[in-house]
Amino acid sequence: MSGLAVRDLRVTYPGKPPIEAVRGVSLEIPRGETVALLGPSGCGKSSLLSAVVGIVEPAGGAVRWDGEDLARVPVHKRGFGLVFQDGQLFPHLTVGANIAFGLEMAGVGRAARAERVEELLALVGLAGLGGRAVTELSGGQRQRVALARSLAPRPRLLALDEPLSSLDADLRGRLAVEVRDILRASGTTGLVVTHDAAEASVMADHVLRMEDGLLV
Ligand code: ADP
Ligand code: MG
Repeated sequence: MSGLAVRDLRVTYPGKPPIEAVRGVSLEIPRGETVALLGPSGCGKSSLLSAVVGIVEPAGGAVRWDGEDLARVPVHKRGFGLVFQDGQLFPHLTVGANIAFGLEMAGVGRAARAERVEELLALVGLAGLGGRAVTELSGGQRQRVALARSLAPRPRLLALDEPLSSLDADLRGRLAVEVRDILRASGTTGLVVTHDAAEASVMADHVLRMEDGLLV
């Protein structure tokens, strides 16, 4: 299958007894589609996402892309992007420099970076704001910048962990639609985690429910 395949994935944290955060989850996301993981706080959503992108080592199971096992592929070589709830922008950099950050790390030249930043600003509805300090943005604008920054290196999969949870209800509804449209327009495969059922159904092609470390 082309895209993401997760097989019997387990995440365990040390403790007495050990905390079994993810207890055997299998799912597939065909290339270009978005899946939402919906479940209450503490059910293991972030742990599953972290194991998929590679920032947490699974206790068992497999993560594959286009059939390739990623167990020995480090985070920065997976071609996966990650967006957190609070954006985690670099406060001392402008909007444009935040978006360009990953490109600079990847050795993309100045002119190509500038061109890509303009594309991304247009994609997320922030055209003309590249020179603005991120500290001068609203919460919704900041999340758009976070989205643009993670899309800039053209990730094959974008993982979003409660990307709208820090925003107020009205804005959340509108941005959910925008995130879906942006993922589609950029052809990005998406894995989005949320505890909000309405948000999940807007953003994703398929919604999977998670409870106590398992899909239900
Ligand atoms: P969710 O994202 O659905 O709220 P998490 O994946 O964050 O759930 O957490 C699942 C379980 O794992 C919870 O019991 C949580 O307390 C525990 N947990 C999460 N991260 C850690 C960690 N780094 N160390 C120990 N326990 C953790
Ligand atoms: Mg979480």
